[in-house]
Formats: sequence, structure tokens, C-alpha cells
Amino acid sequence: TQATKPPPLPSPLRFSKFFQPNMRILVTGGAGFIGSHLVDRLMQNEKNEVVVADNFFTGSKDNLRKWIGHPRFELIRHDVTEQLFIEVDQIYHLACPASPIFYKYNPVKTIKTNVIGTLNMLGLAKRVGARILLTSTSEVYGDPLVHPQPESYWGNVNPIGVRSCYDEGKRVAETLMFDYHRQHGIEIRIARIFNTYGPRMNIDDGRVVSNFIAQALRGEPLTVQVPGTQTRSFCYVSDMVDGLIRLMEGENTGPINLGNPGEFTMIELAETVKELINPSVEIKMVENTPDDPRQRKPDITKAKELLGWEPKIKLRDGLPLMEEDFRLRLGVAKKN
Ligand code: NAD
Ligand code: UDP
Ligand code: UDP
Repeated sequence: TQATKPPPLPSPLRFSKFFQPNMRILVTGGAGFIGSHLVDRLMQNEKNEVVVADNFFTGSKDNLRKWIGHPRFELIRHDVTEQLFIEVDQIYHLACPASPIFYKYNPVKTIKTNVIGTLNMLGLAKRVGARILLTSTSEVYGDPLVHPQPESYWGNVNPIGVRSCYDEGKRVAETLMFDYHRQHGIEIRIARIFNTYGPRMNIDDGRVVSNFIAQALRGEPLTVQVPGTQTRSFCYVSDMVDGLIRLMEGENTGPINLGNPGEFTMIELAETVKELINPSVEIKMVENTPDDPRQRKPDITKAKELLGWEPKIKLRDGLPLMEEDFRLRLGVAKKN
């Protein structure tokens, strides 16, 4: 007897005239601060399917709770230092602790995440032909001798310091990206992100904006690390996400600086937080940590020209949005 042939599969959706091709996007580190905001934005596009791979070291499921169970969303507990075999069209590779407290906690692991993690994601990009974007950092400029920092500046980085696992790690990650691009023709994008702030930052992660807001809300002194004249430039997270997506969708490999050029000393930041959130708190000078860059401000000429991007949200407008989120999480109501 002849074997019965299985019935034909139902005509797949993709043959329907209404079909629009889906983009399957992997976001490593998508349970973290910037990653979860990026996921929110990507999920707004109904053509996107989003897969998050995260080991939850500094991120949490809570940041993604509104997407868990959504048919276009998938969350995998995965450490990028291990191999990952999935099929995707684009990779936003963010996985890496970003706060000094966390990246210094296990520096060897931080190096592995930056080097082996990026190598694995490049191997994945090569196998499936995906475009990959790395979130590098302004820390690749180290304690910069050129101010503001253009992408052409090679940096002033201590290779053996306590921050090296992070900044040298990201430098190797950038090198790997360009070697895979030149050697294997992988489509790469590199963003050099400057200090970013906003809702969902870890409350106790030690970064300056989250520290000051939490301290102001708890009525504790704002701890300015000496000398207090060191500067940073703070970009609101929605502007950052917009820049990352433009970079991914554009034609330039980068590296491209993404950050807000408004530059503030830490004393100015403390005074602004005090004025906006709690005028009765004290500002206290405390000890600093080694190798703290004295100044940092992005030159965003390239982002403006090549991506048509520049930040829209000023520090004074962004801080209250973050305050609202911190009030909810700390359970501190606003006084009228
Ligand atoms: P974050 O710590 O909130 O997010 C990092 C995410 O990566 C977390 O969810 C964490 O659990 C995950 N992760 C860490 N190690 C991992 C591993 N080995 N495998 C899988 N997942 C891992 O930090 P963020 O501020 O959202 O930063 C995201 C990216 O942007 C990082 O690559 C960081 O270096 C870069 N960046 C951030 C800033 C900033 O100011 N926030 C500045 C420059 C660069
Ligand atoms: N890799 C991965 N997922 C893939 C393809 C590769 O995790 O889909 C890993 C692979 O295991 C290797 C790394 O990426 O550790 C680099 O892969 P590549 O193919 O470039 O190098 P090779 O495997 O030849 O060393
Ligand atoms: N800083 C501070 N008080 C704090 C935490 C940080 O004055 O409670 C300073 C720190 O010395 C540095 C700047 O704020 O000059 C930014 O530090 P952060 O850890 O936020 O980021 P990064 O050093 O990576 O830019």
C-alpha cells in the first residue's frame, strides 16, 4: 500500500497579500535600564518581534513585565558569555553592567561579558547574517585630554586600573566589531553612549543621578565626590533610545557618540536636584574613587549630520520624570 501523504500545511500567513515581513530583533541586556526602554520602543512597531536575552545580573523581569506573555515578545534567561543559537535579523547588543559598583564587583566577569559576550553575538550575527549594534561607552575615551570628545579621539585609558575591565573591555568589543566587519563582512553599528539617566535606573546602583535623586527623596545628604568640579553630560533615556534606533536603521557603522552635550559639574547637578526635589537637603563632599574622569562632554556633530539626531530633553525637564518613578518605587509621596 502507498503511504498516505500528509495534507498540505495551511497556507502560511506570509503568502497573504496583507503580509508585511516581520523583523526579529534580539536585545541582549534588554531587562536593564536602557534595554527595557529600547524594547518598549521596538514593541510599538507591530512588525517587530523582540527576543530579550539577559542573565538578570543588574536587570530585572519587572522592567519588562508589560511584555511578558505578548505573542511578539520572548524573554530568555541567558548569559552572553555562553553560545546562543537563534534566528534573528538584528541584534542590539547591550548586555554588560554599566554602573561602576556592578562592573567592579566581578571585574573578570565584566571582561568576559565584553569580550566573549561580544564575540558570541558576532558569531551569531555572522551565522544568520544579522546586523549588530554594540552599545559602547564614552569611557573608551578614559580621562580625556581632548574636550569635548569627537569620535576620532583615541582616548587616554589606564589599561591596568579598576575601571579597565569596563573601558578596555568595551575597547576590545569595538575592535572585535570592526574585525568581523572587515574580515567577514558583518554589518555593524557602534554607539558610544555618554551618561544616560531616566526611570528604571537601579535605585542603589551608585550612579550619580540615581544617587542624588534617591538621597533627595530620602532626605539624606547629596554625596558629591571630590573635587565636585568634574563634569558629565546627561542624556535622557528616550533621546538615547531614539539615537540607537536611528543608528541601527541608518547606513553608518559608527562609532558615533550619542549623548547630551549639556555639561554640568557634580556640584551643579547636586544643586539642581536639591532645588527641584528637596531644597532642605544638605550637600556633602565625600571621597572619590580612582581614575574618575575629570570632564566629559560629547561632540555630537557626527550624530547630527549622519543620523539627524540630537537630544530634545533638557536635564531640568528629565529629572522630574525620573523623580516620579523613584517616588513610586521608594514609596515617597509628593508634598503639596
Ligand atoms: P544595566 O545594568 O541597567 O543593563 C545591563 C543589562 O545587561 C542588565 O539587564 C544585565 O542583567 C544584563 N547583563 C549583564 N551581564 C550580562 C551577561 N553576561 N549576559 C546577559 N546579560 C547580562 O545598564 P544600562 O545602563 O542599561 O546599560 C546598557 C548598555 O549601555 C551597557 O552595554 C552599557 O555599557 C552601555 N552604556 C550605558 C551608559 C549609561 O549611562 N547608562 C553609558 C555608556 C554605555
Ligand atoms: N556563536 C554563537 N551563536 C551562533 C554562532 C556562533 O554563540 O549562532 C559563537 C561561537 O560558538 C563562537 C563565537 O560565536 O564561540 C564566534 O563564532 P565564529 O563562527 O565567528 O568563530 P568560531 O566558531 O569559528 O570560533
Ligand atoms: N559621583 C558623585 N556622587 C555620587 C556618585 C558619583 O559625585 O554619589 C560622581 C563621580 O565621582 C563621577 C560622576 O559623579 O565624577 C559620574 O559618576 P557615575 O558613576 O554616575 O558615572 P561615570 O563615572 O561612569 O561617568
